[in-house]
Amino acid sequence: MIVNERITTYIHSLESDNPEYLEKLRATAEKTGVPIIRREMESFLRVLLEIKKPKHILEIGTGTAFSAIFMASCSKAHITTIEKSPKRLKLAGSNILKNGLADRITLIEGDAGSAMPFLAGPYEFVFMDAAKGQYISFLPEIIRLMPKGGLLLSDNVLQDGDLIESRYITARRQRTIHERMREYIWEVKHNPALDTTVITIGDGVTLSIKK
Ligand code: SAM
Repeated sequence: MIVNERITTYIHSLESDNPEYLEKLRATAEKTGVPIIRREMESFLRVLLEIKKPKHILEIGTGTAFSAIFMASCSKAHITTIEKSPKRLKLAGSNILKNGLADRITLIEGDAGSAMPFLAGPYEFVFMDAAKGQYISFLPEIIRLMPKGGLLLSDNVLQDGDLIESRYITARRQRTIHERMREYIWEVKHNPALDTTVITIGDGVTLSIKK
């Protein structure tokens, strides 16, 4: 946890409940151990979408579509979301249908790295929430797909704070993910096409704007 637990609990206590269908989706995901955006990310996303008012959103990492359905609830955008796990795709498809959002959310099956070259965009808002070790390889396509002024929000970039732990106390697989994520953060901070801020909300996010 990168933010003091008591502060996080306090912030959560200030949040209003979502509509019942979203609370149900969150409860099911939490019960079945499916990862979804943290509660404090919801209001952050909502405010960003209210400011940006995107017409087209690209999400990388659908999961069971909680975040896509959430973004549909607080924007007028069409959402294109990519998921590679067949099991999650099935659940996501059924959640999208059940909530009557088939005309608002396009679900793309497959690896984001293979799917993005076939997309034309532009997407004024991109939400990246997939395999953490792959963010760096997705970046060139994401930049191509965003117009000038487009926003890229990347979730979980600080890896619960483990990112800055000594490499000697980190398991090898985690070490590789951390190295790639540090590389990603460095890249979004230094890429001439982007202006980026690192924010210690949830598990850490970066928010980048295309210049
Ligand atoms: N955004 C979702 C939400 O809050 O409801 C949660 C997404 S979950 C944290 C990450 C998802 O990304 C997983 O379901 C995983 O299968 C998917 N994923 C990981 N790597 C991917 C890739 N290369 N292409 C597409 N999906 C990927």
